Amino acid sequence: EADEDMARAIEMLERASSVTVLCHVQPDADTIGSGLALGSVLERRGATVQVAFAAPASLPESMDELPGRHLLVGADEVSESVDLVVTVDAGSRGRLGSLGDRLDTASASLVIDHHRSNTRFGTLNVVHASAESTTAVIARLFDRWGVEIDADLAHLLFAGLVTDTGSFRWVRPGSHLLAERLLATGIDGAHIARKLLDTHPFDWLPMLGSVLGSASLLPDAADGRGLVYAVIRSEDSAGLRSEEIESVIDIVRTTSEAEVAAVLKQQDFGSVWVVSLRSKTEVDVSAVACALGGGGHRNAAGYTATGDLPDVIDALREALSAS
Ligand code: 5GP
Ligand code: MN
Ligand code: MN
Repeated sequence: EADEDMARAIEMLERASSVTVLCHVQPDADTIGSGLALGSVLERRGATVQVAFAAPASLPESMDELPGRHLLVGADEVSESVDLVVTVDAGSRGRLGSLGDRLDTASASLVIDHHRSNTRFGTLNVVHASAESTTAVIARLFDRWGVEIDADLAHLLFAGLVTDTGSFRWVRPGSHLLAERLLATGIDGAHIARKLLDTHPFDWLPMLGSVLGSASLLPDAADGRGLVYAVIRSEDSAGLRSEEIESVIDIVRTTSEAEVAAVLKQQDFGSVWVVSLRSKTEVDVSAVACALGGGGHRNAAGYTATGDLPDVIDALREALSAS
């Protein structure tokens, strides 16, 4: 039936003459790559297309070479009513932020995603939980649709694939075949990966020194499997890009003594904390994040908490021991 949904999705996309493609808040290269790739194809077919994500974030600087950025419009410029709203890489309506209400004013909505926690909030939902990235789902859609993947589309699809697989660490049969197809169009995969994942200003280093230097290891947490966590306070992240902040979890999660890793990111010197969770194998952090109001994948998830830091950490420990 997944195949049938794909066919129905293509029908919906072919019928629509005005389409808004919505990416998730705090956009990453998978949601933007998916949104711009789909938007570009719809634009070439003659549709009126807007691609957007909710404020306050602007497009991360690491994505400023992605093709098709002319399709991006500010959240306040998004049309009130279009034939079709498509969401890409958003596991729930909440992930669209203030743009979630555009789902109600459009004639129809199509959800394209790969999160196992996806709440199926569209008129039609194409959710491939086994896909490495939403761009991998978009690639399947293009193949089925007969869309030729040129270098610009390949650049966008590769951007999501390389980031969501952690530079081809979390791969499955077929991941490298898709990468090979995309690279064969002539794109510079090494440059794209470096630009997206391996470029930080010098000030990243002292931030890491401070944040990692005060990380905590709780061996008893998560039923004895261990939790390691680091806290990024607003004063640590001042002047740094989202890229520098989002990179921290990838260092913290390598701790061998802990099955679960967390990074708690303070918002605007206040009591709101955006939390990233990662697990190695056993713990389903998607379920933990769902219990705390968020969502994600089995081994990578997140949520937003409000409160004093010790209480937020206690709530996390509690949710982990119940998991
Ligand atoms: P990250 O820690 O990189 O921000 O997020 C890890 C994964 O969890 C991503 O796939 C992301 O989509 C998902 N995720 C992060 N925060 C939230 C949230 O608040 N709600 C939901 N539903 N998913 C989230
Ligand atoms: Mn994403
Ligand atoms: Mn994704």
